[in-house]
Amino acid sequence: MAYDLVIRSRRAVLPGGTRAAAVAVSGPSIAAVEDYGARLDAARQVDLGDLALLPGLVDTHVHVNEPGRTEWEGFATATRAAAAGGVTTICDMPLNSVPPTTTVAALEEKRAAAAGKCWVDVAFWGGAVPGNEASLVPLHEAGVVGFKCFLLDSGAPEFPPLDTAGLRTALGTLAEVDALLIAHAESAAEIKPLEATRDFWSFVDSRPRVAERRAIEQVISASAATGGRAHIVHLSAADCVAMISGAKAAGIRLTVETCPHYLYFTAEQVPEGATEFKSCPPIRDSYNREALWRGLEGGVIDCVVSDHSPCAPELKLAASGDFAAAWGGIASLQLGLSAVWTVARERGRTLDDVARWMASAPAALAGLTAKGRLAVGADADLTAFDPDETYVVDPAKLYHRHPVTPYAGRTLTGRVRQTWLRGTALLQDEGLLEGGGETPVGRLLKRG
Ligand SMILES: [Zn+2]
Repeated sequence: MAYDLVIRSRRAVLPGGTRAAAVAVSGPSIAAVEDYGARLDAARQVDLGDLALLPGLVDTHVHVNEPGRTEWEGFATATRAAAAGGVTTICDMPLNSVPPTTTVAALEEKRAAAAGKCWVDVAFWGGAVPGNEASLVPLHEAGVVGFKCFLLDSGAPEFPPLDTAGLRTALGTLAEVDALLIAHAESAAEIKPLEATRDFWSFVDSRPRVAERRAIEQVISASAATGGRAHIVHLSAADCVAMISGAKAAGIRLTVETCPHYLYFTAEQVPEGATEFKSCPPIRDSYNREALWRGLEGGVIDCVVSDHSPCAPELKLAASGDFAAAWGGIASLQLGLSAVWTVARERGRTLDDVARWMASAPAALAGLTAKGRLAVGADADLTAFDPDETYVVDPAKLYHRHPVTPYAGRTLTGRVRQTWLRGTALLQDEGLLEGGGETPVGRLLKRG
């Protein structure tokens, strides 16, 4: 039998561990995984040698913002950045776009906006907001991968938060169809008012760790009361790890993610007025970063996803360095793998760890069964990665709509050299996408 494509690597990151292997592709799927030197007939043969072959990453936390705030980011630009960063599937968040994805009609509008523009596969989160209880099951049946809610003001007036009763109602409704609820877990009662300031520590103090802790307690209680599946997005406060671990041990159906910026940066590194570092919850001190890493390494934190949340540059930077006024969101979709690997490698972690945190665990979270692993029957979504190469982040080489990022000028270790989506190569040398004018090959996915 002749395959369409065979890719060989001496460092193929397979579900059972990294080894030399040949991955054979037929049509859109992985058809066989054989020994590195196996004789396999194929229309195209690629030998990566010592370059690592990873499963294409699955980033379940991306704010594309289209339609409605396409000047912040959009499907064409976000998915090109994803492809260049080794990410072959993104899950788009339901807010910051207008309309937010809180009804089936809004989901259809979003799918129409994305159609034909995507360089990688795109799935969608629905939103749980006050008053849309009747839309939750229909959205689930329409294929969203789960539902996002806020427990305090989201910053987008069209996406209000749930109160304690609303959280329980939503989780109870979703439990009946075994759908997932993901929560932005900060408690409004613990957030302090912030005057105009260029001092990052003042901003951090205004969103203390206890705000995350109180909100996570609320989610744990609601999950315990309803049996619903809950997930904490972008955990920053590492002192919550013990509580999450305890809840998991007690059988609460809880998972948690953190983000590259919490694992890479520390608050001590943030210059005065550098609002490109602003996110909610904030980047915290170096002790917190160490504890977050331990929570990840110990298996309490399940996955690492970007929370790529750009905005128009004037909202981020023209606030004259005022952390109170600037938009909170960090753009990193293209850089997450390198940022995480840079620190992970120094800590003695392996590519197997990174593939679990950034591909297989997020795919499982979102119920995307064909994604996130190099295994027979899975989609042939693959990333060639040089784990030894270092580079300096040049914002001019980012495909994000706006190149504003706190990683500018940082030296990162590990570079994406090629990305395949269902067997189709997406990059040329130097990270340029193949045939810029050709039809993008990404598909719009439904859960499953
Ligand atoms: Zn987010």
